[in-house]
Amino acid sequence: MERIYLDYAATTPCDPQVLEAMKPYFIEKFGNPSSIHSFGQEAKKGLEDARQIAADILGARPEEIVFTSGGTESNNFAIFGVYGAMAKKGNHIITSQIEHHAISEPCKVLEKHGCVATYVKVDKDGIVNPEDVKKAITDKTILISIMHANNEIGVIQPIAEIGRIAKEKGIPFHTDAVQTVGHIPTNVNELNVDLLSLSAHKFYGPKGIGALYIRKGTRINRFLHGGDQEKGRRASTSNVPGIVGMAKAIELCGEKMDEEAKYQSSLRDSLIKGLLDKIPKSYLNGHPVRRLPNNVNMSFEYIEGESMLLNLDMLGIAASSGSACTSSSLEPSHVLLAIGRSHETAHGSLRFALGRWTKKSDIEYVIEALPGIVDKLRQMSPLYEKE
Ligand SMILES: *Cc1c(COP(=O)(O)O)cnc(C)c1O
Repeated sequence: MERIYLDYAATTPCDPQVLEAMKPYFIEKFGNPSSIHSFGQEAKKGLEDARQIAADILGARPEEIVFTSGGTESNNFAIFGVYGAMAKKGNHIITSQIEHHAISEPCKVLEKHGCVATYVKVDKDGIVNPEDVKKAITDKTILISIMHANNEIGVIQPIAEIGRIAKEKGIPFHTDAVQTVGHIPTNVNELNVDLLSLSAHKFYGPKGIGALYIRKGTRINRFLHGGDQEKGRRASTSNVPGIVGMAKAIELCGEKMDEEAKYQSSLRDSLIKGLLDKIPKSYLNGHPVRRLPNNVNMSFEYIEGESMLLNLDMLGIAASSGSACTSSSLEPSHVLLAIGRSHETAHGSLRFALGRWTKKSDIEYVIEALPGIVDKLRQMSPLYEKE
């Protein structure tokens, strides 16, 4: 059976060119970049070339890039690091109701230690109103963190506008751009951000590697303590193969970005239209236009996302019922609840995330297969019969 992967928002396969770029750094160029000898210096060159490439895609300077173990660490570093460095000034963080757990959980930890966090709401399309952020600011606010695009519903936030507000008030502004780097433009100066998180496995690079952009002059404590790697900002021997692979992935995304976005958004729109047309009582989640080129998230009344996923999987189609993190828990997605879906409707939701290797025929297959699955499951649902 041919399998169709439509879960690129959970993770992507490595591009074969990424793997090729990494290979020499496992065996020949294996040195520790902190070493003085030629082995170390060879690895160091790979590391610093990669830093320049990562800086370029963000419109940043290489010294503003700190390599981390991925999106989760970058987010934790930003939240705990800025909070710690700004503790004398205040204890208030502003974030949103729809952040990834790698932002909301660190905030909850800090709340147990005297932090006050405001979780601004989103509208029915999943968009944060910059005015709400502005109104939430107090003289104790020391950090604003709003994600660039949501991992479940793909909605793109007005980051540049929120950034302008933060800048006016002199408050550090972080964005979780894990879903956007490599997919849509992420220039830190256009976005008006001081800190930005990214993760390679979301854009055809390897897992376990990412970066935090830190604008020069931003006050932040280190998060990992130990050696003085990354100019003392992050201890631990650099993951050189991973970093080199991430840089190659960034290069490839940069070359293809416009073309891929155009291709994927046309497949996205035909999938949305096909499913809405063929399945009664189905809804699109998130703004129809201000969303990632590859994201489709829909709710289907009277059924469980999990049952749909299992039935799709039997046909070789891989999708998700929210985010990779929530699909194993029984709680409905906090993001779908935040846009006003009921618990029942939120439970009956699916995310299809398209990618570099998605074909038109894959989308056609889903449009053909899902209506039958939904119909079959609805026939079994007591709720449906009552209608
Ligand atoms: C995947 C993801 C993360 C976590 O990144 P990891 O590299 O897997 O730790 C954080 N934020 C968003 C929006 C994500 O999609």
